[in-house]
Amino acid sequence: MGQDQTKQQIEKGLQLYQSNQTEKALQVWMKVLEKSSDLMGRFRVLGCLVTAHSEMGRYKEMLKFAVVQIDTARELEDADFLLESYLNLARSNEKLCEFHKTISYCKTCLGLPGTRAGAQLGGQVSLSMGNAFLGLSVFQKALESFEKALRYAHNNDDAMLECRVCCSLGSFYAQVKDYEKALFFPCKAAELVNDYGKGWSLKYRAMSQYHMAVAYRLLGHLGSAMECCEESMKIALQHGDRPLQALCLLCFADIHRSRGDLETAFPRYDSAMSIMTEIGNRLGQVQALLGVAKCWVARKVLDKALDAIERAQNLAEEVGNKLSQLKLHCLSESIYRSKGLQRELRAHVVRFHECVEETELYCGLCGESIGEKNSRLQALPCSHIFHLRCLQNNGTRSCPNCRRSSMKPGFV
Ligand SMILES: [Zn+2]
Repeated sequence: MGQDQTKQQIEKGLQLYQSNQTEKALQVWMKVLEKSSDLMGRFRVLGCLVTAHSEMGRYKEMLKFAVVQIDTARELEDADFLLESYLNLARSNEKLCEFHKTISYCKTCLGLPGTRAGAQLGGQVSLSMGNAFLGLSVFQKALESFEKALRYAHNNDDAMLECRVCCSLGSFYAQVKDYEKALFFPCKAAELVNDYGKGWSLKYRAMSQYHMAVAYRLLGHLGSAMECCEESMKIALQHGDRPLQALCLLCFADIHRSRGDLETAFPRYDSAMSIMTEIGNRLGQVQALLGVAKCWVARKVLDKALDAIERAQNLAEEVGNKLSQLKLHCLSESIYRSKGLQRELRAHVVRFHECVEETELYCGLCGESIGEKNSRLQALPCSHIFHLRCLQNNGTRSCPNCRRSSMKPGFV
């Protein structure tokens, strides 16, 4: 298969893919990969295969094609291609919750010699890095990376990237419990889809609706949460988007749990759990198990709650997500307290405080916790976060957390 035919076949696959004939598209692309001797074409087709498998939630295959793509980029001896393929490798690892690997491959990307594509892809590298730091609950670095990605998006008029960063920021603020911002950013993403998204894939709309649903649920606006989640799920089903289906099921379950309808919540947690297991989203499994545990606590079936917590704790430790570990210790603590088991209770209190230290989830001004209950937060330019009220009361301009480290030698 020569250069022209390769090009034609890639195009044919793209058309099939865009009209939702995914399996047929994959067949066409796989044939190109088998038959074509054109290196450029092989590189492009590998990119298509990475994207398609990512959207279907087949992350292990995604990773496999990303690795082959790096070899092809090396054969092509082109810095832009090498960067693109390393970004794909970073993203595959992000999807598989291999967050340390993601960060390390993102750093590889940033260390590659500066190229034209570098400017464009730099924002996407920062976004992936931010997602990985968020996965590890390293909040300051996550925020720093997201803000960098946002700057790239603005400087390059890249509304698609801005939309994705806004969704990640929504997730960030949902985790540190500034629910106002957790809703603001996905609303902003939905606005971008309305204003610029005529030619975009519907998954951007679905993604922003999902993040809005999460924020509405946390704010207690369960009707709006339901509406957004249904909208998102509808698109996810049309597109065979398994990863998003799992997230929506998890959100539905949380909404029903918030309503006190545990009967309806349980089967949805189960469905979310089985898709997340199938695709390898271990962090999603942790969240589903945490929801299940809360349901059992509400029913006062404490031993079943402890079972779910133990499974979740193992997975959370595996992927290195500190915030889930913190929440799980907190829930265990309350269970052992009601059982009157002092020794177990104390062990979880100790582990809980260790997690608070490691996640730095306290305000550097008042010393009280962040992320325990809904409160308005504000970040300083260094990306350390504080209670908004504490910053206003103190009128501080320099960060109390990094005052020393950010001081330039000339100031000393
Ligand atoms: Zn404070």
